[in-house]
Amino acid sequence: MIISSKFWNIYIVLYVTFHIMSRSCEIDTLPVDGLCIPLNISIGTKIITDYVKICCPNEKDGEEVHILTKNGQDTSVKGSPQQFVCTTCGRCFYPHTSRFFKELKTDIKTIISQSLKRGRLNVKSLSRRLQLKRSTTSRLLLQVIKLVSNSIKHKKYFKTKRRRSNCLFIDETFLKIGRKTWYLIVVVSGNNKIMAVELVKKRTKAIIFEIVKNCADRLLYGLQLLISDGFQVYVGVARKLGKNLTHVRHIHKPPYRRIIVEIYSYDEFDVSKTIFKTTNEITTTFGWFIGHVKTTKESLGNRKRGRKKGSKNRSKHIIAAEKKEKAENRKPRGRPPAKSAKKGWKVHVFNHDRKKGWITALGGSSTVVGTAMKIILKQFRNMHITSNLIEKEFSALKKLIDFRGRRSMEIWNELLISYFIIRDEPKILDQVLDQVNISFQTVSKSISCLLTGGVAVM
Ligand SMILES: [Zn+2]
Repeated sequence: MIISSKFWNIYIVLYVTFHIMSRSCEIDTLPVDGLCIPLNISIGTKIITDYVKICCPNEKDGEEVHILTKNGQDTSVKGSPQQFVCTTCGRCFYPHTSRFFKELKTDIKTIISQSLKRGRLNVKSLSRRLQLKRSTTSRLLLQVIKLVSNSIKHKKYFKTKRRRSNCLFIDETFLKIGRKTWYLIVVVSGNNKIMAVELVKKRTKAIIFEIVKNCADRLLYGLQLLISDGFQVYVGVARKLGKNLTHVRHIHKPPYRRIIVEIYSYDEFDVSKTIFKTTNEITTTFGWFIGHVKTTKESLGNRKRGRKKGSKNRSKHIIAAEKKEKAENRKPRGRPPAKSAKKGWKVHVFNHDRKKGWITALGGSSTVVGTAMKIILKQFRNMHITSNLIEKEFSALKKLIDFRGRRSMEIWNELLISYFIIRDEPKILDQVLDQVNISFQTVSKSISCLLTGGVAVM
């Protein structure tokens, strides 16, 4: 019985053992019977010997059969394997590099590709699928990951690409790696493209600022809208960016659905910050709605000290009188009394016009908020104001990447970056898999699963 390379009986549990499997280091001594390789196959308790026809690795389906001749034993290779020469195409090869094994390698690559394209960088499930040891699968995956991260050298990828958006979503999640807590910070553009992935020990203002600044510089329409959670550090980051900006913060504490919009507008001397408290459904409901608004102003310290150009100093009498008055009305010493949290907040009224599709401020309400709402509405038309884009990323990521196991931080970073590169450009995987080197031992170990399961679904 000859096993044609494309014919697998997928219903019989077939365990294939090679004569050489117990001596896998001696692969080059793969026995040859004429133009066939004998295989010992276990079906249940029975073992039958089967034969795999040796075909030229260059031969393709539908092509005329390539004619082979034996070319003696290659003593330059360990184990002196039998060498074959194809008289059709001139290719020299050994039994273990013949078409049968070449196709099995392709099958393994297809399984890896299917698995990784769904973002499944999971050693455990891939080991089970390929019936390989976890260490072998892990080595295979690391090979792919290294190739993916090498392939983007000197090329644009998600960390350097520019994106057509004016909006950034930022969020962090913590990961336990070993026994330490790490923070994974992810930035996605308004058009749902990944822009940054950083694994950091601390989520300080300086670290997060650098990440946001880098992404902001790559937005083709300039950063106008920053969406984050209520984490206080983001407030400092938004302020440090030093530009006109609308920062939407989701407060993930009860009562839920609250959002705080902070609008920064700069002029030569001051930055004014308008804070608008509302709920996340204002973009999906129409008609009137109210929100609490407060505006604060902060000097940028650009004003020159001293008298203005062209003016004169005040007379000595006036200055002395001023000093005397100041001394008499001295301010109380010590810490000033705490300001009421409610101080400065005013209720403003807005209208969300369904027909025109915009939000306007009404009757003296803040036009600054009205303008910011137009930008927000563009991003969240007919949907709640949400930071969902990243939450989806995180839940997928945590399910797909097995964060256990001892790996260096460098490898973890490489793994995360490769995961997002593949997610951003699935095509890269096919280019990389071509270069993946799968040893004959690996092929022979996962052969039973390849014969019985084909390369069907996971
Ligand atoms: Zn050939």
